[in-house]
Amino acid sequence: MQQLPKYVQEKDGKLWLTEAEGNNLYIRYGIKEVVYEKQSPYQHVMIVDSYDFGKMLVLDGFVQTTAGDGFIYNEMIAHLPLSFHPNPQRVLIIGGGDCGAAREVTKYDSVEMIDLVEIDASVVDVCKKHLPEVSGNLSDPRVNYHFTDGVGFVQDVDTRYDVIIVDSSDPVGPAVELFGLDFYKNVYRALNDDGLMVCQSESPLFYADVMQQTYERIDSLFPIAKTYSATVPTYPGGFWSFTLGSKRYDRPHTTFDKEARYVTDGILSQCFQLPQFMQDALRGETNE
Ligand code: SAM
Repeated sequence: MQQLPKYVQEKDGKLWLTEAEGNNLYIRYGIKEVVYEKQSPYQHVMIVDSYDFGKMLVLDGFVQTTAGDGFIYNEMIAHLPLSFHPNPQRVLIIGGGDCGAAREVTKYDSVEMIDLVEIDASVVDVCKKHLPEVSGNLSDPRVNYHFTDGVGFVQDVDTRYDVIIVDSSDPVGPAVELFGLDFYKNVYRALNDDGLMVCQSESPLFYADVMQQTYERIDSLFPIAKTYSATVPTYPGGFWSFTLGSKRYDRPHTTFDKEARYVTDGILSQCFQLPQFMQDALRGETNE
């Protein structure tokens, strides 16, 4: 019998992917099959076909994106900064190996180049091959792939970007430094005078400290810092936060006219309306 990856168990003839959130919370997805699995030099990379969300990209046992709900996250991380900028031409994506964010960025005709900096080439390969629902088999000639560490890339890069999207995995392993102040300083430096950045800033319910620290760091560098939220069912708790840092623009430039499944004109402004507990957490107040 084929040996199952350690994140997958068989019970009563059915396969289950178990995502362990610390020691006290386990999230289980019934899966039809393991489509791909390999240990890359950076992480365990797996594609599974689940019953409820279709194909899923799983890194080190954590669900990163799925055919079923990946569009919510990818549209929210890409269209917010791009719709705020009146003429985005150069875009940098750090992480984002599933290509879903890049796919959204290609919807902007003004964009001339997209640098996608992913540490793990195998993530791009498997997502193009097995997860076209997210990657769209991205073959747009404006996308330049750089398979290297995003931390070093922003430190050394001479290009100045209009928009930088930090589409990182959780702050563990190679992604830890993508949440650090020094990294954000380099992101600030790599942006044009009217540029903006966005990053995913974790769950406001389970990782309020990461969200608050991310906001505080970006707020210390950028004249405009704003947190927004969306519901992404396969991220722990469902509720997810993103943080935007902008040198000039603080609202959408024009009416939203891209083809999208989640983002609308209303969402682009409403997503900044935060529930009280999130506002408190961003001020460093806890609700315990
Ligand atoms: N949407 C996802 C989420 O929030 O869970 C993130 C998607 S994307 C697949 C995250 C990518 O960041 C992974 O493919 C991972 O390899 C990449 N990554 C992690 N650390 C990195 C680093 N230091 N430089 C570049 N890419 C990195």
